[in-house]
Amino acid sequence: MAQSKNQRSENFLGTERLNNSNGRNRATSLRVTLIPGDGVGPEVTSAAVRVLEAAGVHVDWDVQEAGAEALKKRGTAIPESLLNSLRRTRLALKGPLETQVGQGYRSINVYLRKTFNLYANLRPIRSFEGVQSPFRDVDLVVIRESTEDLYAGIEHQVTPGVVESVKVITARASTRIARFAFDYARRHGRKSVTAIHKANIMKLSDGLFLKCARRVANDYADVRYDEQIVDAACMRLVTNPRAFDVLLLENLYGDIVSDLCAGLVGGLGMVPGANYGQKGAIFEAVHGTAPDIAGKNVANPVAAILSGAMLADYIGYQDAASRIRQAVGEVLRAGHVLTPDLGGSATTTQMTDAILSAIGSIEARV
Ligand code: ATP
Repeated sequence: MAQSKNQRSENFLGTERLNNSNGRNRATSLRVTLIPGDGVGPEVTSAAVRVLEAAGVHVDWDVQEAGAEALKKRGTAIPESLLNSLRRTRLALKGPLETQVGQGYRSINVYLRKTFNLYANLRPIRSFEGVQSPFRDVDLVVIRESTEDLYAGIEHQVTPGVVESVKVITARASTRIARFAFDYARRHGRKSVTAIHKANIMKLSDGLFLKCARRVANDYADVRYDEQIVDAACMRLVTNPRAFDVLLLENLYGDIVSDLCAGLVGGLGMVPGANYGQKGAIFEAVHGTAPDIAGKNVANPVAAILSGAMLADYIGYQDAASRIRQAVGEVLRAGHVLTPDLGGSATTTQMTDAILSAIGSIEARV
């Protein structure tokens, strides 16, 4: 990390967080890697940067290329300069990166999570007033293990026409993510953790995941623990999402269930995310590169902006983070300046400007 150990304190996640008394007294800006990414990435990450700056979050951005653009210009999707930057800062705000389907280079997202041991992927799923969605008052958190499972990338052809993909589940990673979920639940006053699995079929791998979760649950008498089979959980999520609080999932189920949950609160443009490790974090929206709308200035910037708010929280600017969330809430509630995915006709820039002006009004009121 670029900062010395004594500048850090244990935070609610059990990971390290900068201790910065709301960022007001920082003499120098903190260096953070900024990965604009592919597709809509540059549009939404620049929106997030503008909002962070307007909210008073002082960051010295180290802008780094990665993904399809980097591959085109520099012959590699993961340039060494990006890895060096992350080794120094251990913090990033990241746009989505293109991953080719069924061919090409390995997912860079997966590579970064594994390389920097960012084992906990956290995605808060929350309804906003003013956003058309199947439910109101959804408020749950998806916590996804993100270093193993089928994402270990171990695949081989046994014989032509027959391939095997290996699902790796370890007691160490399962226990670590379960502890993260229970710590998070306890520190945020969440009432329950639901482990989601398919241990009726994958008795060994998902069975081990559950065994570890149960063992950890015993240490948290104040947090209710239950389990649901993934297919039944999906049905319940789309009929009664309020029945859930913190969801604890392996990597693949976590990926799928996150997108399902995004659909409960207005779509992929609404859900932020963070990848936490013991010594760093990368903040990024749940959505991908959205190639169908890339370059058109119509992407919903909210997911990226709220990911920026999670970064602000992490580096000690809690007041700024809550101003950003409040401003996003006000713009959505007013409903005048919304991007097309939310039923409006505003551009990404116009919606970002509306959020900036809401921040200005909030600051004028305090
Ligand atoms: P990738 O391969 O990078 O995951 P994808 O198109 O498969 O790309 P997403 O990028 O997550 O997956 O997009 C899925 C759908 O959601 C697309 O129709 C896209 O336009 C829409 N979408 C995603 N992000 C946003 C956003 N920020 N604003 C508006 N629509 C979005």
